[in-house]
Amino acid sequence: MEPTLARGLVWLRRDLRAHDHAALRLALSQCAQVHCVFVFDPHILDALPRRDRRVAFLQATVAELDATLRSLAGQAEAGLIVLHAVPEDAIPALAQRLGVQAVYASHDDEPYALARDAQVRTHLAAQGVALHTVKDHVVFERSEVLTQAGRPFSVFTPYKNAWLRQLTPTQLAEQPVAPLAHRLAPRPADLHAPVPTLSALGFEPVELPLAAGTSGARALLDDFLARMDHYHERRDFPSVKGPSYLSVHLRFGTLSVRELAGAAHARAQAGQAGAVAWLNELIWRDFYAQILHHWPHVVERSFKPAYDAIAWEQGPEAEALFAAWCEGRTGYPLVDAAMAQLNQTGYMHNRLRMVVASFLVKDLGIDWRWGERYFAETLNDFDLASNNGGWQWASSSGCDAQPYFRIFNPVSQSEKFDADGKFIRRYLPQLARLPAKALHAPWDARPLELADAGVVLGRDYPLPIVRHDAAREKTLARYAVVKATA
Ligand code: FAD
Repeated sequence: MEPTLARGLVWLRRDLRAHDHAALRLALSQCAQVHCVFVFDPHILDALPRRDRRVAFLQATVAELDATLRSLAGQAEAGLIVLHAVPEDAIPALAQRLGVQAVYASHDDEPYALARDAQVRTHLAAQGVALHTVKDHVVFERSEVLTQAGRPFSVFTPYKNAWLRQLTPTQLAEQPVAPLAHRLAPRPADLHAPVPTLSALGFEPVELPLAAGTSGARALLDDFLARMDHYHERRDFPSVKGPSYLSVHLRFGTLSVRELAGAAHARAQAGQAGAVAWLNELIWRDFYAQILHHWPHVVERSFKPAYDAIAWEQGPEAEALFAAWCEGRTGYPLVDAAMAQLNQTGYMHNRLRMVVASFLVKDLGIDWRWGERYFAETLNDFDLASNNGGWQWASSSGCDAQPYFRIFNPVSQSEKFDADGKFIRRYLPQLARLPAKALHAPWDARPLELADAGVVLGRDYPLPIVRHDAAREKTLARYAVVKATA
């Protein structure tokens, strides 16, 4: 394939890999010489706490990507250009400095990214440089899957059925990089700066509980492929190695979603129930991405407007309840263990995300946006579309949410999904010696059981901050304003 342009620039953002890459492949096929850049954006970095696992993950991933590009190109100078600058200025300036005719990037439909890209596009156009953006983050995007009436889906199951009907090998086809890697261009000498360290970026070192980069993602994927068949049976039990743990890699694009969906689809076609269930989750990811695209108001407000009339708890008492939830001090062991998992590792099991979100909104009466924000600050895999979708699902305000009168009981969820208390014991060692029966609701434990386990409630572990039954009644009353529309 003969290139038509002399020089191009690929701007990598949440697609941090050097294989099966739509934007990189397009640039390599159109340009004789291709540079790659990653920009650490101070707009994003400055808003983060100084110890942030995502930044550490990103830094390590960018360093690996730099090495991979150099080795693919077969020359040490052909690595990633890494900048720490405002992208709206830095990308047009770099395009000019390198003399490129086009800049290539993957779509990013989060509101901040759309505004940023619009500005970059305008600045580049003024220089006579095109910005080409392509789909990469999802299998189907934006308006690719619509109802027969040509409207976006707001209910998952018909969306999923249409998604599956529309799937052809084209969407899953690899976008190979290696065959054209000889077109990766050497960096000019003044752009050879090494990938900045965490401290150069203004961050403190933090322990990463997960391996970064495509190498880390591959290791997880290989491990998961060997147990994908059991996904549907194991995925709901937080103490069991059931899910893939690939979400942070999907967030930063260290693997291609096409490859993952392709692997799941092939096994699903062969009748494997685990693969069917896992593919379903990847379709949820696409579903929420298109919800954000078509209904961007969800970032601020309920998908269903009637739910904006709900009066949430406010004031110092609500703030104290919220702090107890964030810090895992609610007195409900499964909720507190889940929050400990999040706070200690930056990951939380999907079942537990549903449990703690429901608890915040429907037991504590706190606005789902508070929880959404806390997750955004702490989750390694934070993704605006999926996080918003998950929170609006739990608060019943979402497009295809659980009905408002369905309220998870945190004790029965605990008995069902952590029956022997293995997960709770791991994250709440102070309760580890309680028998399983007493672990789910320690306030109901017999005094002797507590004494034998060395637990004094109120000292070693909090008493419950709300009574679920009373909270349930209050929530049903609170949601009465939406009854007519629910
Ligand atoms: P697996 O079970 O192995 O699933 C594979 C992949 O499918 C995941 O990596 C993820 O990309 C996707 N996926 C799975 N479940 C969902 C779902 N319900 N919605 C959308 N995509 C899904 N996921 C995020 O990636 N980022 C978030 O910020 C996020 N916030 C959430 C908030 C709440 C309140 C809830 C209920 C769910 C949230 N999820 C989010 C979805 C889900 O919990 C995580 O994707 C999943 O737990 C990640 O673990 P895993 O990679 O082992 O998942």
